Amino acid sequence: MQKLDFVYQARAGRVVFGPESLQHLEREVLNLKSERALILCSPEQKATGEFVAAQLGSRAAGIFDRAIMHVPMELAKEARSVARELRADCAIAVGGGSTVGLGKAIALESDLPILAIPTTYAGSEMTPIYGITEAGLKRTGTDLRVLPKTVIYDPTLTTSLPVGLSVTSGINAIAHAAEALYSRDANPVTSLIAEDGIAALARAIPGIVANPSDIEARSHALYGAWLCGTVLGSVGMALHHKLCHTLGGSFNLPHAQTHTIVLPYALAYNREAAPEAMKRIARALGTEDAAVGVYQLAKANGAPTALKEIGMKAEDVEKAAEIASANPYWNPRPVERDAILSLLQSAYEGVLPQ
Ligand code: NAD
Repeated sequence: MQKLDFVYQARAGRVVFGPESLQHLEREVLNLKSERALILCSPEQKATGEFVAAQLGSRAAGIFDRAIMHVPMELAKEARSVARELRADCAIAVGGGSTVGLGKAIALESDLPILAIPTTYAGSEMTPIYGITEAGLKRTGTDLRVLPKTVIYDPTLTTSLPVGLSVTSGINAIAHAAEALYSRDANPVTSLIAEDGIAALARAIPGIVANPSDIEARSHALYGAWLCGTVLGSVGMALHHKLCHTLGGSFNLPHAQTHTIVLPYALAYNREAAPEAMKRIARALGTEDAAVGVYQLAKANGAPTALKEIGMKAEDVEKAAEIASANPYWNPRPVERDAILSLLQSAYEGVLPQ
């Protein structure tokens, strides 16, 4: 029998889940003891921001529709001052990880509670981790103040997420749960959540590809994203997240696609060092091998499987291996430069993970 000896860190927060659950928005704003909400969204999702504002009627104080990737400090300051001018007493972030990130940057320096309405599967709404970019450098940190107080998961708002991004964002979520299963802080509760999160996304992704408006598939994907985000916010990550952070930050590669391409190779790297976790990931995917299972899930659903497909340059592979192995960090298998170089070369070419 497995020895039970662990710390489980639950994060406070209220979740309202279901198709059309946006109808409960006013109730949820009032539940936060708030009356005037500033709505945050990206320029591409302006119509969604307006739709949310319409749901809220006179309790919508205004819309700030300029959320972009990596949360520039200047933008965060501007959004905070708009919130002050409009006398907003809460902020509603509707969108993907970039918009939720802007909400977090506001919460970091003010008392405004954040209500998140995620429309991708990135999972940021469930974590106390924030990132802000200043003078070209992205600073990340952990602070409980940035954790949204309430999250409304309404799958109907995700049917507009393009199929390609739905697949890669879903595999981005799977990456959180896969690394949670072999995390140094893994515990029986987070492992249960992680395995179920992977299974929900693995059954939902083919359904979304077959019919992007399938509300059942969209519901299961968003449910999986919630579970995967929960474990991302509860336990430490390892090699895979470090590699993606390096590739995204130093070579400007797109977030969800990079996660999708790298995950099979990170799992192959850790295969022998974390056999129990691999068994659970494979079981959740319904395959023999975790690494090959993720690779096939991506390939079968039209996602990119090679870094060269998304703009990585051959000459940058070595540089990436240097950066990713420069500062030691915990991973089930020690992080060694030559082995990381070979991992990245395979990911660059997109060969079947060995
Ligand atoms: P994103 O938020 O940048 O969104 C990508 C694009 O898709 C945007 O143009 C957005 O407007 C659009 N979009 C989102 N939902 C849509 C929908 N339903 N319909 C149509 N278009 C839609 O991408 P992301 O992958 O969600 O988030 C990535 C960012 O989040 C990264 O910067 C990453 O670092 C951060 N992140 C942070 C955490 C954390 O815990 N702090 C966790 C995960 C991701």
